[in-house]
Amino acid sequence: MATLEIRDLHVSVEAENGPREILRGVDLTVKQGETHAIMGPNGSGKSTLAYSLAGHPKYTVTGGSVTLDGEDVLAMSVDERARAGVFLAMQYPVEVPGVSVSNFLRTAATAIRGEAPKLRTWVKEVKEAMAALQMDPAFAERNVNEGFSGGEKKRHEILQLELLKPRIAILDETDSGLDVDALRVVSEGINRVREGGEVGTLLVTHYTRILRYIKPDYVHVFANGRIVESGGAELADKLEDEGYEAYVKGGASE
Ligand code: ADP
Ligand code: MG
Ligand code: MG
Repeated sequence: MATLEIRDLHVSVEAENGPREILRGVDLTVKQGETHAIMGPNGSGKSTLAYSLAGHPKYTVTGGSVTLDGEDVLAMSVDERARAGVFLAMQYPVEVPGVSVSNFLRTAATAIRGEAPKLRTWVKEVKEAMAALQMDPAFAERNVNEGFSGGEKKRHEILQLELLKPRIAILDETDSGLDVDALRVVSEGINRVREGGEVGTLLVTHYTRILRYIKPDYVHVFANGRIVESGGAELADKLEDEGYEAYVKGGASE
């Protein structure tokens, strides 16, 4: 059973006037099969946490540890993290010019599985996953993220999630910029992946609306670079009613 353990994680970024600490002691354990919602005000460091777990070079870990089944994730390269089963769907996905969705997915699957998926079953897998996400088959031939609408980007992320079957999925603001129909389709995709029970999900969000479709096992309030409160799904209802004000008093979130 895969377990991601984050202990007293401190992360800084290089700002104009020197290093600036963004994460200030994050503690969190995510087990396979569990869904954790990380909720907090803008600027509290949620994306920094997501990027740090994926190994983005802009973020410097200055303290603490991250392990996956006891293996030191922080010592792994970005590729090694992906192979170990850590998947990040980014808030602002990047364009990959000249690389089609279908080639991108097959390359990623090859890297993660350690061998190229058999072409015939792979094509079928991709087709089925795309159909489930109500995606036009022609989409597979488009270049990654080039001219994708907000909804297409998110669907593409969930397509990756369904095909790459990570052990830990980090979804950063997957609900942002989606209309209600797209939100439902994307949420159903996430729920299909969760139902397999193989993946531990870290759902990072500012708003509670995606939690109408995806019921988290745990909700964590993130403020000023750390988790300040944890609870069950009912904590999200409280946040919906009361907002984050109570958590950011005495320290600006920016
Ligand atoms: P959230 O996702 O919760 O909105 P972020 O993690 O994006 O928060 O940002 C937290 C804080 O860190 C913000 O004040 C942001 O400006 C700052 N920050 C994040 N990344 C960088 C960076 N690469 N360079 C400078 N500041 C950054
Ligand atoms: Mg600390
Ligand atoms: Mg963010």
